[in-house]
Amino acid sequence: IPNGTNGAAVTAAADGGIGRRPALRFGDRELTYGALARAAGATAERISGADRVAVWATPTLETAVGVVAALLAGVPAVPLNPRTGERELAHIVEDGAPRLVLAGPDDELPPVLAALERIDIETAVPEDAAGNNDRALPAEPGPETAALIVYTSGTTGPPKGAVLPRRAIAATLDALADAWAWTGDDVLVQALPLFHVHGLILGVLGPLRRGGAVRHLGRFSADGVGRELGAGATMLFGVPTMYHRLAEAVGSDPELAMSLGRARLLVSGSAALPVHDHERIFAATGRRVVERYGMTETLMNTSVRVDGRPSPGSVGLPLPGVQLRLVEEDGTEITALDGETVGEIQVRGPNLFSGYLNRPDATAAAFDGDWFRTGDMAVRAADGQVRIVGRKATDLIKSGGYKIGAGEIENALLEHPQVREAAVTGEPDDDLGERVVAWVVPTDPASPPSGDELAGHVASQLAPHKRPRTVRFLDALPRNDMGKIMKRSLSRG
Ligand code: ATP
Ligand code: MG
Repeated sequence: IPNGTNGAAVTAAADGGIGRRPALRFGDRELTYGALARAAGATAERISGADRVAVWATPTLETAVGVVAALLAGVPAVPLNPRTGERELAHIVEDGAPRLVLAGPDDELPPVLAALERIDIETAVPEDAAGNNDRALPAEPGPETAALIVYTSGTTGPPKGAVLPRRAIAATLDALADAWAWTGDDVLVQALPLFHVHGLILGVLGPLRRGGAVRHLGRFSADGVGRELGAGATMLFGVPTMYHRLAEAVGSDPELAMSLGRARLLVSGSAALPVHDHERIFAATGRRVVERYGMTETLMNTSVRVDGRPSPGSVGLPLPGVQLRLVEEDGTEITALDGETVGEIQVRGPNLFSGYLNRPDATAAAFDGDWFRTGDMAVRAADGQVRIVGRKATDLIKSGGYKIGAGEIENALLEHPQVREAAVTGEPDDDLGERVVAWVVPTDPASPPSGDELAGHVASQLAPHKRPRTVRFLDALPRNDMGKIMKRSLSRG
């Protein structure tokens, strides 16, 4: 599938030379491009003509084939998170109104999906299967046709369904291919869930669009990543919690360090990569992790080019075709590249979604003209590189007349040897307006550092007003499936 969003190319793959090349591998099950074209084609025939189809998105070969089938059939697909609760699933099923659900033959579906017609995803269709060569698939739908409806991660509120047209997916994958020199010879290793943009669009459709291969681990492990990179995989896509585990492992595992060092590209996204983990991986492997910044609604906005200079804490430059501006609260655009003036990131370009499903109000509120308001706050450095300071809703603390980003305080805390995880929030304060509060998971729960010790550590690195006034200790931080910290569930308890 040289072009993963283009149905005609998939069918062509069955005969061309690409047919014998590996496309997808999950565990020990592998499909060549030819086998994928047959499997997805057979499944596509069974959903052809439907308005919409849900996909039970387990981290399996079936899910990848099911989504390619939906793209081939020109039927918008709604990936469902199999680990989410019944209430959220019920909401998505009602909101997205699919009548069909694609699932693996062995999947057990929850009762809330009982009203949908179930269609089993085929992964093994023999070369001589009847009807294999004269299959009637619809012509490639127009670029504005919805390809996927992906629900946001629900970090700041209930998930919203973002309608992603084929145009946006193609634009973002081509922009990344340009920035990262991504080719058909690349082999991607990943272990991400397949119901969000990162694992599904970047991590499955990305390689397929280029004619490259995907190796999905099913479940993340540092060993699994090391094994695949050691065996010739060229790229790794992961979220910061995975890079944290690699950073922990790499210091004492020279073989893993060597495998990571051999990778062409280590990419992190979905949340900020702590500087401490970035530096530890660099020290052990000589590789700098490349960050990319994006979101469900806009797909990818920025990254560091392969020939650029990845630096810890920076998400790089706008991708080709993406326009980006920083806007102050009063609506003025920030033109200074001073690395200091904080504004909201707004973006426009061919990578944008076409709106939230059934939410014209939320869609309208998310735009300023044709600029999408990301809700993320950032500064730009002299060379134009974007540094995210956090989300407007949860990471910007207004204290004593200062606007403080939670991220830099979290980074400072994580450098303390007795801190394993850290999150910073603001709480109302009579004197300061808001007060900086640190939530800390100690490295050794039996002997946590004192709050004063940690506040002093932050004050030794950052301006005095950034010092946490309150430090609270926890056993673990609340995180969602993407490893994002759910700050809205951190409250005084
Ligand atoms: P919801 O919109 O439902 O609250 P969400 O915003 O977490 O959830 P996604 O669309 O999956 O859902 O995530 C996009 C957000 O992730 C961005 O707006 C940004 O806050 C964060 N993000 C993504 N990449 C990075 C990065 N490299 N550095 C910092 N933050 C990032
Ligand atoms: Mg969001």
